[in-house]
Amino acid sequence: LTFVFLVTQDVIKSQRYRLELERAKNYAESLLKSREQFMNTVTHDLRSPLNSVIGYTGLLEKSNLNKSQNRYLAQLKRSSDYLLHLVNDLLDLSRLEAGKMTVEELAFNPKNLIEETVENAVPPEKPREVEVLVNVSDDLDTRVITDPFRIKQILTNLVSNACKFTPRGSVEVKAWLRQAKHNPVLCIEVKDTGIGISEAQKEKVFEEFSQEDSSIEKRYGGTGLGLAISKKITDLLQGRISLESEVGHGSTFLLEIPVAYAENNHAPAVEPRL
Ligand code: ADP
Repeated sequence: LTFVFLVTQDVIKSQRYRLELERAKNYAESLLKSREQFMNTVTHDLRSPLNSVIGYTGLLEKSNLNKSQNRYLAQLKRSSDYLLHLVNDLLDLSRLEAGKMTVEELAFNPKNLIEETVENAVPPEKPREVEVLVNVSDDLDTRVITDPFRIKQILTNLVSNACKFTPRGSVEVKAWLRQAKHNPVLCIEVKDTGIGISEAQKEKVFEEFSQEDSSIEKRYGGTGLGLAISKKITDLLQGRISLESEVGHGSTFLLEIPVAYAENNHAPAVEPRL
């Protein structure tokens, strides 16, 4: 009888745990959903007024302003560009976390994409002492299939970081195709001779809001989200992103994305709009 009693107690207990677990799961799901809705509303509602601030700032730039007005305008432009960048990053992050970011499979020429992306990613404020070199191997002058827009997004982030954290020296982008067992792999290396990343920080740079320290954040700006987004997108593309760095000597990021040759497939062709 005692045995039956104990077993019944256990069954009741486990039933209760199951119910509590179920309730906690539902609660967590509803929290995630409200967080996603909140992020979407905030980011969409911030984006339209911001776009109008940026648009009018651009118009003002063309008018006849005196020296100090131009200085104020430049500051206004920097701040609004930064805000738009932050809002876009937050939107991307919330989409990625909700599993709502989609990747496309399109055929494109990686050599053209990489060269044009690097050219556009170099920030206008890059010091003249920093040289940007691009070396894309000829075997990338072909058509491959993966998501060109996401590759462009990651590469833009890596190149703009490399330029931002390199006060003098060079930023070198190399790209080539590696033949792996199942797929060819698109490899893009972004190497700079900048400030470098400490051993402790290396572990964290791919996490959200990870900036080396607040002095770096103040000095170089940035949201601390770019690499976290790049890492999550790389995972979606079933690739890998890795980092080697030495403080005071520079950093090298390597992006590896499996692709397919377009000839054997029927993915729609695209010439990415840059
Ligand atoms: P952001 O650049 O917007 O701050 P990221 O996620 O792109 O955000 O980078 C996170 C942090 O990693 C940067 O704030 C910086 O401390 C470090 N970092 C990234 N790229 C480099 C680089 N090429 N050289 C030195 N530090 C870097």
